[in-house]
Amino acid sequence: MKVFKFGGASVKDAPAVKNVATIVQQHPGPLLIVVSAMGKTTNALEEVFQHAENRQDYEPALQQVENYHYQLTAQLFSDSQHPVFARLQSQFTAIREYLQNLPPNRSDEHYDQIVSQGEFLSSLILYYYLVQSGFSAEWLDCRDCICTDCSWREARVDWLTTEKNIQNKLAPLLEQQIVITQGFLGGTTENRTTTLGREGSDFSGAIFAYCLGAESLTIWKDVAGFLNADPKFFLNPHKYDEISYQETVEMAYYGASVIHPKTIKPLANRHIPLYVKSFLQPQEPGTVIKDSKHEKLVPAFIRKANQCLLSFGVRDFTFVSERNLSVIFHALAELRFKINLMQNSAISFSVCTDYDADRLQLLQEQLQEQFIFHYNAGLLLYTIKNYTEDSINHLTNGKEILLEQRTRSTFQLVCREK
Ligand code: ASP
Ligand code: MG
Repeated sequence: MKVFKFGGASVKDAPAVKNVATIVQQHPGPLLIVVSAMGKTTNALEEVFQHAENRQDYEPALQQVENYHYQLTAQLFSDSQHPVFARLQSQFTAIREYLQNLPPNRSDEHYDQIVSQGEFLSSLILYYYLVQSGFSAEWLDCRDCICTDCSWREARVDWLTTEKNIQNKLAPLLEQQIVITQGFLGGTTENRTTTLGREGSDFSGAIFAYCLGAESLTIWKDVAGFLNADPKFFLNPHKYDEISYQETVEMAYYGASVIHPKTIKPLANRHIPLYVKSFLQPQEPGTVIKDSKHEKLVPAFIRKANQCLLSFGVRDFTFVSERNLSVIFHALAELRFKINLMQNSAISFSVCTDYDADRLQLLQEQLQEQFIFHYNAGLLLYTIKNYTEDSINHLTNGKEILLEQRTRSTFQLVCREK
């Protein structure tokens, strides 16, 4: 039994969906397909939701999402009476009804109900297309399997219930046919939809693979495999052929965008290999991530944009004490700031985190009485994992560096975005 996860780029238009069918054709045997929203649909739905929440006209943005899905679908199904069209229509009707009756309280719960729709649309279209292409296939509502708590936008999985559901409801289906389901989503015991965090479909693939005891998980991407640098920002990246779970977890933690950081742990716990492969060159081996012992790897360059550097100083010429730090950490945790890098000196404490204007405002309000608080936004955080002196020189050349840190294996710097 294998699990394939197809990301947004792999289903972004009609030819891409056809290509997915070709890949599936080449892999006979029990298969679960976990699919993300098509192209940039999740961003588009976030925008729709934001308009609705701000009581602005969301209809033009929603119309775009709708047109995109209809046009794509019309290129896949020549019969305009095909049931897929009615399914799409009922999804969009449900979205509109929800938005028209959006409760006045701002809540991430409503975000999840709307933004999750991208995966329902993509999985329905892919399912009907595979059936039309002659596959024996079934569509599964992942909320019947993946059980989570109510931490909206970043729901936590109830592993025991989820594993039981998957064993009882999904495993028997997979004996008969291919099953297509949604990434990124879960459901609560009160039948509300949750999302697992942006880019969370990889994690969904891992949850299913873990609970099924799958032979492998394959993530199909628009790059050749796990690269040592993002080709959008670095020339001639190197592809790793094989890499350990441990190295991968660390790189994902530092922000390597190729894999969602939560993906690895469930796979490693059951020794399930993860393949990262290109949907453009499906015959190529890509990268395998598994229990492996390898020599030191080629340095990996990881770039995280939209960073800010917060610094906290004490007001009374004393030092930043452990007690001060605990106040700062508490406030950061409460506001769900993730610390990407930190540094302590006698009179100040600095933290690099993702920039978020609203939450920064709240942080400032909470801490300004006790601390002198500054921040710089518009920054980049670079990490080199397994650095060499050459790689550091290459990276730092010409940059205005605000903070720099190194351990035995990792070099990090914060600099201005140019
Ligand atoms: N569609 C979701 C997102 O864009 C989940 C994913 O693609 O992994 O965040
Ligand atoms: Mg993705």
